[in-house]
Amino acid sequence: IVDTPEIDVDRELRPTIGEFTLRAFVAPYRGRIASGMVLVTATALVSLAGPAIIRHGVDAGIRPHDTGALWFAAALFAAVSLANWWLVWAAGLFTGRTSRQLLFGLRMRVFAQLQRLGMDFYEREMAGRVMTRMTSDIEAFQSLFQNGIVGAGTNLLTFGGAAVVLVAMNARLAAATLVVAVPLVIVTRWFRRRSDISYSDVRDRVAAVNANFQESLSGVRVAQAYVREQHNMGQFREVARAHLAARQQANQLHAFFFPFVEFISIVAQAIAVGVGTSMVRRGELSPGSLIAFVLYLSAVFNPVQQLSQVFDTYQQARAALGKIRDLLATPVGTPVPSPPVRPGRLRGEIRLEGVQFRYPAAAEDALRGIDLEVAPGEALALVGETGSGKSTIVKLVARFYDPTGGRVLVDGMALDELDVVAYRRQLGIVPQEAFLFSGTIRANIAYGRPDASDAEVEDAARAVGAHDFIATLPMGYRQRVTERGRSLSAGQRQLVALARARLVDPAILLLDEATSNLDLATEARVTRAMRIVAEGRTTILIAHRLQTACRADRIAVIDDGHVIESGTHDALLAANGAYASLWSAHSVTTEVPTPVPGA
Ligand code: ATP
Ligand code: MG
Repeated sequence: IVDTPEIDVDRELRPTIGEFTLRAFVAPYRGRIASGMVLVTATALVSLAGPAIIRHGVDAGIRPHDTGALWFAAALFAAVSLANWWLVWAAGLFTGRTSRQLLFGLRMRVFAQLQRLGMDFYEREMAGRVMTRMTSDIEAFQSLFQNGIVGAGTNLLTFGGAAVVLVAMNARLAAATLVVAVPLVIVTRWFRRRSDISYSDVRDRVAAVNANFQESLSGVRVAQAYVREQHNMGQFREVARAHLAARQQANQLHAFFFPFVEFISIVAQAIAVGVGTSMVRRGELSPGSLIAFVLYLSAVFNPVQQLSQVFDTYQQARAALGKIRDLLATPVGTPVPSPPVRPGRLRGEIRLEGVQFRYPAAAEDALRGIDLEVAPGEALALVGETGSGKSTIVKLVARFYDPTGGRVLVDGMALDELDVVAYRRQLGIVPQEAFLFSGTIRANIAYGRPDASDAEVEDAARAVGAHDFIATLPMGYRQRVTERGRSLSAGQRQLVALARARLVDPAILLLDEATSNLDLATEARVTRAMRIVAEGRTTILIAHRLQTACRADRIAVIDDGHVIESGTHDALLAANGAYASLWSAHSVTTEVPTPVPGA
């Protein structure tokens, strides 16, 4: 019993094909569920034996003063009690185990889907809502898996058996009594419809509470700085109150339904007694049969009441199932090509042809026809006003999104035909906001290549000029950083992110404002280091500071989703266009070092 096989994790990690249904999900574990059912049924049967043994002990042992029979009955009772104890233990252990394994499987499946989903999903969904799917929605299945499925099977069996006995005892009386099934079915259907809505509403409200909570947690510094605590409390009160209201409504349904089922069972007994008595009076039924009939009637309604509990559990899980099903059915924004082309080592030629892009929720295009070409090994700098579309270009080159129009090609291959994993392994990306994970500095640098040796990690850090600051930390490379790297300064975080990109030895390097948080001296050092790093790799670098941009091989000026100019620093100055005026504006406000010749 203890050695049940584990969950088939590989199956759970694969994308869900078609609609996710509970039946298909538990299908491979049918055997385990059936074993649970056998154990639970055995428990029920064994506990039925107790009263029969007592009756035997009293009738055959105590009344005729037969000590032997009494001892026998006592021994039998002890044996049955022991068996019962073992069965209850085994059934609890077994169904508990199975239910936790199923939960684990479900969790793996949802997590795998969350890992697959693209940026579009995460920009649309609030983190707290996603968290809810992963936590309380999945937990809603706990009691269904633990007691529900097994309980439903066992109760259906007992219900069916007792009903057959009733009909066999007296078909007419049974028919008269089971008329109550009509209102029971009608009300159950009504309950099902209403509770579907109500429980689904509860799930949404829980998600809203969590989303609000999560956001206020991550924004706590800003909230305190702007003294928004009262306001946030008010907002939270609103969502929490809406959750409370939804729960209360669900509770009203719940509170109505169970007493109703009990009431129906009493009505059935009343009918049986009423109809049965007149049948007895007419001599169509013996009094003993009537008593037995009424007793069996409760054997029919006990499982019905328990089934209504299971039904409620099922309804709650169903609401959660709907949410999880939607999540599992969410298409991945960047579909997997079939069959994907596995690129070898890339030369790093990037071409954007008439690329248009609109963010899923946006009303306007972020890119309106971009034509750009980056030769292998070339460093292209993108400059332009804030919101002009520079980061968007980089996101498309990394295939975080697919363009809504035009094509992105790498080495002449369309990006959406490449195996995205093999492609991204050759990318080094430093996003606009460097993100560090909780763990050591070393683990953060080696994030893209966890097998890298200490020497390689240190080399990468030296190459981008991060070694100096790391060496001054008390624990050096073993220094732990807190969540999101908050224990480091913004500039230090960027240096670590640069080292991380460097370490994967990428064919293409995408640097979004990678030096914007550094002081001028460090920036100069890093830029020099980056030139070495960028050697032989195609680099797209976004820079607000023109001193950084002017060192690139070529510069493209982006304005409102268009490339309005491109060329070398000197050519653009000579052309006296947008770049030249940016440059002169820049020169007035900052001390501009003369660009490195030939850069
Ligand atoms: P910055 O220099 O400030 O980083 P940028 O040139 O990188 O600006 P992008 O981030 O590419 O600008 O944004 C281009 C446009 O797309 C902007 O108008 C912006 O509002 C819009 N945009 C960016 N991200 C999203 C998003 N996730 N959803 C909707 N619109 C977006
Ligand atoms: Mg940007």
